[in-house]
Amino acid sequence: MSPSRDSLVDALSMKGGTGDHSYATNSHYQRSVFYEIQPLVIENVREMLLKNGFPGCIKVADLGCSTGQNTVLAMSAIAYTIMESYQQTSKNPPEIDCYLNDLPENDFNTTFKLFHSFQEKLKPDVKGKWFVSGVPGSFYSRIFPRKSLHFVHSAFSIHWLSKIPDGLESNTKSIHIKYPYPPNVYKSYLNQFKNDFTLFLKMRSEEVVYNGHMVLTFVGRKVSNGLSKDCFQVWSLLSDCLLDLASEGFVNISMVESFNMPFYNPNEEEVREVILKEGSFEVTKIEKFDHVVPYKIDRDEEDEEQSLQLEAGIKHASWARCITEPLLVAHFGDAIIEQVFDKYAHYMAKYLSVSNHRPNMTLVIVVSLTRK
Ligand code: SAH
Repeated sequence: MSPSRDSLVDALSMKGGTGDHSYATNSHYQRSVFYEIQPLVIENVREMLLKNGFPGCIKVADLGCSTGQNTVLAMSAIAYTIMESYQQTSKNPPEIDCYLNDLPENDFNTTFKLFHSFQEKLKPDVKGKWFVSGVPGSFYSRIFPRKSLHFVHSAFSIHWLSKIPDGLESNTKSIHIKYPYPPNVYKSYLNQFKNDFTLFLKMRSEEVVYNGHMVLTFVGRKVSNGLSKDCFQVWSLLSDCLLDLASEGFVNISMVESFNMPFYNPNEEEVREVILKEGSFEVTKIEKFDHVVPYKIDRDEEDEEQSLQLEAGIKHASWARCITEPLLVAHFGDAIIEQVFDKYAHYMAKYLSVSNHRPNMTLVIVVSLTRK
């Protein structure tokens, strides 16, 4: 039996371990985005240190750290920036407390092992001052003591909602916001995002010190014409795969009809509105990166186009699988997983062949915030 709508989110996690289908193996897209936003993160860390007078112990958190190298990359970039800034101002090196947060189902152990081998290679003076620990729990609740955090990083996490929105009973032909969706579907998702993001900011406002900084990266949506298109192509294609499997008799249609992704990609206006209304943080910068489909093929190589598209479709399917498999297994069981992503690779290949003519509605939004 599948879990109830409310408890489905308890199963949310990326695919653990280091196998072929794991998040650790398939999350280079997220990593490539971090390389792009790294200068922004570094700038925020430096500003935070200047405003906070270079304290002796700095507390940093990665919210939704998941499993694999990406959090090691982000946290080490932040730790190096801190060490370097103290050196440049001839201050004694601080101690750095680095907290890795995710939901309890997350494979923290894979990440801890990577951190351990990374830290082993550090110079003793840095190694002895950088402490890493895990914090299991939802970032939609309090997970740190009051006024304890100086810097919060969160990448590709806060587009995940705390629950499946209410009022989606009529959304039977899609697992998300797929055009043409019944009225109120978009509203249900938007309301859930507003409630969740407000709560996220409120919880952090209690935990982050005055003048502490946050850099939040997530999948967003372009403002213009957002409601006349599918809001997230990845879920639209996944909907098609699941509906196919239902019509082929591999899965009960009612299971597909009752499944909705706890995911919302807001546009910049929606993000700004929540931050302004909640009121604890000042937006120092919002940047947008317009490239959300992770695997594009080289359009010049027309001859090999079809096989390249299928290759790109397969890679994209691996990426989609590593972020959804635990959730899909919790609802549908594991028997259909191979079929779902085999279909997905073909649908994505087809989509890529025509997507140059279709505007992509998604982008990456990076928000820099300062605690007022
Ligand atoms: N930051 C990493 C991982 C992103 S994957 C990177 O950039 O690659 C998104 C992660 O957010 C998942 O591991 C998921 O379990 C986590 N997540 C989703 N909702 C969460 C919540 N409410 N609290 C804590 N973590 C959450």
